[in-house]
Amino acid sequence: MRLRFHSTLALTLLGAASPLPAQRPRPHVHLVATGGTIASTNYYSGQSGKIGVEALLEAVPALDTVATITAQQFANVASTSITPAMWLALSRGIADTLRAHPDLAGVVVTHGTDTLEETAYFLDLTVADPRPVVVTGAMRPSDGVGIDGPANLLAAVRIAASPASRGRGTMVVLNDEIMAARDATKLNTVRPDAFAAPYRGDLGVADPERVVFHREPHRAPTFDLAGVSELPRVDVVYAYVGADGAAVDAFVAAGAKGLVVAGAGRGGTPSAMRQAIDRAMANGVVVVDGSRVGSGSVPVGEGVSRRGSGPAMVGTGDLNVQHARVLLMLALTKTTDAREVARMFAEHQ
Ligand code: ASP
Repeated sequence: MRLRFHSTLALTLLGAASPLPAQRPRPHVHLVATGGTIASTNYYSGQSGKIGVEALLEAVPALDTVATITAQQFANVASTSITPAMWLALSRGIADTLRAHPDLAGVVVTHGTDTLEETAYFLDLTVADPRPVVVTGAMRPSDGVGIDGPANLLAAVRIAASPASRGRGTMVVLNDEIMAARDATKLNTVRPDAFAAPYRGDLGVADPERVVFHREPHRAPTFDLAGVSELPRVDVVYAYVGADGAAVDAFVAAGAKGLVVAGAGRGGTPSAMRQAIDRAMANGVVVVDGSRVGSGSVPVGEGVSRRGSGPAMVGTGDLNVQHARVLLMLALTKTTDAREVARMFAEHQ
């Protein structure tokens, strides 16, 4: 899964830049396409990956006025087929591309919306370059009515090209709304305004005439992937009335090194489930307690029991369960000590 410049396309688009010699050179933006509904032709067939990256670009002629674009087809799959191994390759590929091309203003990634927030946060936590990575997708297929893909792609390229985007990490952009990757989540299964940052709010907006930022994102040190050949297994367990320890025990038996609890309210779990969590922690599994509510916070804590005698659950802070899982996977590449994981979660609040 090597990342390569799509040289034919790059040449085509660079060639198209020449007619007005007095024009200022346009910023260089690199597009990485991974699939999703933005690259699908028929929503009801449920098939992502019908449209290649060249067709994605051809559908938005206005891109040519915004940036010189190079592009690559990283994958063309539904976002539920994205794997942790692909995250490693995608992040490393983007970092390599940025390093090899100092002229690049930023990178745009197109992605299925179902797991977009997970991939975006992984990139946010692992790409150290100050140039922006902007992740976008679409809720409607490319041959639908009132489609959102072209508008989202144009907005994403404008944001990636904007000098104001530097130092803001990975951002999620749909419906002209700019969200920090750590804050963005999908809240609706069908509508074009499906994404929001319910707890902290948007970073800004891609207005028709300019890209505007209203606030700074939270920034924390990124994780170095050097020497990481695979990500540790981390599973999510859901709390509900009558939930017992079966899922916890099964995930631990399957080799989970970490668990994230989608707890009731501010991280609550029924007692049978809680007993299984305590057994898991006693066996060295790091458990992070979060909420199934969708907005709000669970205190991070110290990762150590009140008497200081053993590990305790680490709270997610205001990260949602999907984001907390990504952070825990990366934290476990560095440590298995719950206190150290708590320190990292605190750092990312
Ligand atoms: N099933 C699609 C995906 O995530 C949904 C979308 O892109 O909106 O790949």
